[in-house]
Amino acid sequence: MYLHSMQRKPTLKAFKYRIYPTDAQAVFFAKTFGCCRFVWNKMLDKKLQAYKKKERIPQDTPAKYKEEFPFLKEVDSFALCNVQLQLEKAFKDHFRNRKQFKLPKFKKKRDKQSYTTNNVHNSIRVDFEKRLLYLPKLREGVKIELHRRFEGKIKSVTVSRTNEGKYYASILVETQNPRNKVSEPKSKVCGIDLGLEYFAIVTNDFGSYKVEHPKYLRLGEERLKRLQKSFSKKQKGSKNSEKARLRLGRQHAYISNARNDFLHKLSKAIIDENQVVVVEDINVKGLLKTRLAKSISDSGWAKFLSYLKYKAEWYGRTFIQVNRFFPSSKLCHRCGHKNDDLGLNDRMWCCPKCGETHDRDVNASINLYLVGLGRSEVTPVEQALVDDRSPHGLPKKPSCDEAGSSTAKD
Ligand SMILES: [Zn+2]
Repeated sequence: MYLHSMQRKPTLKAFKYRIYPTDAQAVFFAKTFGCCRFVWNKMLDKKLQAYKKKERIPQDTPAKYKEEFPFLKEVDSFALCNVQLQLEKAFKDHFRNRKQFKLPKFKKKRDKQSYTTNNVHNSIRVDFEKRLLYLPKLREGVKIELHRRFEGKIKSVTVSRTNEGKYYASILVETQNPRNKVSEPKSKVCGIDLGLEYFAIVTNDFGSYKVEHPKYLRLGEERLKRLQKSFSKKQKGSKNSEKARLRLGRQHAYISNARNDFLHKLSKAIIDENQVVVVEDINVKGLLKTRLAKSISDSGWAKFLSYLKYKAEWYGRTFIQVNRFFPSSKLCHRCGHKNDDLGLNDRMWCCPKCGETHDRDVNASINLYLVGLGRSEVTPVEQALVDDRSPHGLPKKPSCDEAGSSTAKD
């Protein structure tokens, strides 16, 4: 742990805050958003034309357009430079992987608006006392809701405006120590099986527990479906259609915030609790092609794994993704027998060799846990660590039967 923190490299971390611009500041933001969109669309158009003619794709700079369109000089020039960089990155991504990255699209006024500017010679500052954010080209600070502090050098800020007219600033900070509070892990190892019925099944030194999909997300998604239906029924361009579109946008934003919040809290809790975290290397993209697609993309597995991974890095934990061919579901965790007859729909199964009854997902998470235990960096579980606490209704003894499954052991 100590060594780990000594070797820490600076990390970039984004802090997002709600901001409340004055009318004049909102006008400046609108101008900047507009100029960014304008430059994006101009550059994109040029690039796409060359692309269609199979010519070399031109690398424009915003300076080129400033002659012809002098209003571009009024806004933050870093914002325009960043448009160029973002667009070039989008094309690069596309050429690298055409399936995953589609060609960039033209920006519309009614999309979410944003611009990114860089900190040069302290042009971006946060006054924590006065609760103000200073941005280039704005003489007065913008009122900011600083619900949490950060320390470190500000690299850039992305100002955005949602469809509903809320403003946010996402501040990218280079920080040496992004950890809030790090406690010694209570459990050495934890194995996580990601499921559809449950979001995850977790096994650590204290036993197994299931993490349900939060109910508010399910309800939120049902409401989303209803809103989508109602929006599609409205006559395009009508006042009611516009209202329905806004409602739909709000619901989308609500669900995406709520899901992120859930994934952040769960990953943080797991990283806090365990020294080594073992997960399956799920080929999410492969799975997405099947009809499971909807529920998988909804459950946010890929995001969850990426959160676990970077949090593990921050907090000095070990994150292990096992090979996706590792048969975590088919192995009996008790005797090691591999049950090749196990079908996708078998939720419970009985090991033909040792007779143990398994809950499919709990057994898988125990197998992942055992993988972690077998790793050389893991010292054997210290019994002294076992205490009486029982987070998330965690059973005290590691046992498959206590993990909430209804089968009785004979
Ligand atoms: Zn067995």
